[in-house]
Amino acid sequence: MTITVVYDNNPYKEDLETGWGFGCVITGAEKTILFDTGGNGSILLNNMQKLAIDPNSIDTVVLSHIHGDHTGGLGSFLEKNSNVTVYLPKSFPKMFKDNIQSHGSKIVEVEQPLKICENVHSIGQLGKWIKEQSLIIQTEAGLIVIAGCAHPGIVKIVTAAKESLKDDILLVMGGFHLEWATKGKIEKNISTFRQLNVQYAGPCHGSGDKAISLFEKHFGKNYMNIGAGKVITMQHLQ
Ligand SMILES: [Zn+2]
Ligand SMILES: [Zn+2]
Repeated sequence: MTITVVYDNNPYKEDLETGWGFGCVITGAEKTILFDTGGNGSILLNNMQKLAIDPNSIDTVVLSHIHGDHTGGLGSFLEKNSNVTVYLPKSFPKMFKDNIQSHGSKIVEVEQPLKICENVHSIGQLGKWIKEQSLIIQTEAGLIVIAGCAHPGIVKIVTAAKESLKDDILLVMGGFHLEWATKGKIEKNISTFRQLNVQYAGPCHGSGDKAISLFEKHFGKNYMNIGAGKVITMQHLQ
């Protein structure tokens, strides 16, 4: 199982372009999955090319939530490969869904937690205002939780993942939505991560520099520095 960050506003691999948003590709599971598409299709496709990920190798696209920094690259992606199933929160506007189907792609509307393929699950549609789904990957060492923006709250997402799949949390990565949070609130999140026994933390995208440096301080060697071009394999998680 490999997770490759193809889109992030934080830099990691020098020759990749950054842009506001998030996107990553999961390979090595039953399906090859693109989770979120970043805000800009040409950045997405250029980065995928530089990372040697062929858009045609993707069978499944999962969109965390409606915001443009997670869905903006979808149109350009579907121009390259429309032979995909797109999992999106049920609350997405009809026009958005119709547009995907007009490319000939299938959609799955997510409301409750559901299995996407062997070892990969959607947490289901969470949140009051901005509905969002996160991805959960089951590994032998525990669960990997990938959040797009984490509007429902990263702690809420991690708690729901733990409850729904009844396993330990190995890694939480993605947007933690703590950009505007106070130091006290961030530290409360970190101590809850500890209580929930989260092994590794990889905040990126909309986590904010303050939260990123506090997670780094508290997680030490179990902090994961994530940006565009980061590749995570199981070897990094032991
Ligand atoms: Zn958002
Ligand atoms: Zn975002």
